[in-house]
Amino acid sequence: MKIAILPGDGIGPEIVAEAVKVLQALELGLEMEAAPVGGAAYESHGHPLPESTLALAKAADAILFGAVGDWKYDKLERALRPEQAILGLRKHLGLFANFRPAICYEQLTHASSLKPELVAGLDILIIRELTGDIYFGQPRGRRVAPDGPFAGSDEAFDTMRYSRPEIERIAHVAFQAARKRRGKVTSVDKANVLETFQFWKDVVADVHAQYSDVQLEHMYVDNAAMQLVRAPKAFDVVVTGNMFGDILSDEAAMLTGSIGMLPSASLDARGKGLYEPSHGSAPDIAGKGVANPLATILSAAMMLRHSLARPEAADRVERAVEAVLAAGLRTGDIWSEGTARVGTREMGDAVVAALTGKTIIGR
Ligand code: NAD
Repeated sequence: MKIAILPGDGIGPEIVAEAVKVLQALELGLEMEAAPVGGAAYESHGHPLPESTLALAKAADAILFGAVGDWKYDKLERALRPEQAILGLRKHLGLFANFRPAICYEQLTHASSLKPELVAGLDILIIRELTGDIYFGQPRGRRVAPDGPFAGSDEAFDTMRYSRPEIERIAHVAFQAARKRRGKVTSVDKANVLETFQFWKDVVADVHAQYSDVQLEHMYVDNAAMQLVRAPKAFDVVVTGNMFGDILSDEAAMLTGSIGMLPSASLDARGKGLYEPSHGSAPDIAGKGVANPLATILSAAMMLRHSLARPEAADRVERAVEAVLAAGLRTGDIWSEGTARVGTREMGDAVVAALTGKTIIGR
């Protein structure tokens, strides 16, 4: 099994190094090769996604990605900005299904901005369609408005569109994921206003006919945003389009208290995937050795489960993370009174120690 390691910018190299350490400790004989991406690749190759990096990603069975971006690249033309690397990888590799679990660990219940009883035991999965919708729809652009009350003024426009196969494949992914969980899918739309999402709702309902063992509910996106903070535990799997998923998955992430804890996976039709933490490159803390590596380590666990067919190894990594939290170890973002503050490397070492059966020195 070959893994492309793309550390990227900011805290990316620091957190990916810890995840690589954890993968190596599993002794699965994984072959790993690193390549630059994002701002780092712009510096070395003049492009955020060089051909050589894309070729490595295409040839690999899975990709472990850190994060890209830095404010110093904000003035570059859009095509050369670091963030284009992740969009390019999604597009070139056909990564259409984005999995974002939002799990609230028992020890971190108090880190959430919601009341502990609302989030204790939270375990929901947001599945976002990643390659369609208004983010990719054509035509788009700026022009002089040809008609309407503001005819003759400058205007900008985008196109929201989804085809039946695009909706069908993400619906299958959601129903199959629900089967392995609590058997419920909430499909989020805006069918009351948007033609595209009336179509979305109809197609999801059609696909549901093949999954009579899974419960399906439809919910408008405004209500879903509200229910996520009112009663998040009522959800199991949430499936939605690219834009609504972008927003709702960040909202769900914050239910758990820290973005430093949340992994993600972006999968193609055959289960090949790109695995990355849900957070960005955190340039404000880069190079200080304080970033939380757990989201990246948990992303590696998702990789073992979804792309490398090693679910038992994924379980081991997840149990090791729980053990480290239970021992009271915390990076700054999840630290609270009475726990032991550790840096990025110590956190990674502690997960490796837990994996290999050594005692974790915590508090
Ligand atoms: P960010 O997620 O990088 O940081 C937001 C806040 O969370 C910061 O205070 C940061 O210090 C903190 N934080 C993030 N990850 C952390 C971790 N592992 N441990 C501890 N604290 C952590 O978001 P931002 O500041 O809006 O963006 C910074 C850069 O990251 C931008 O250039 C942005 O475009 C990029 N970005 C990249 C990705 C990606 O690579 N997929 C995703 C989001 C943002």
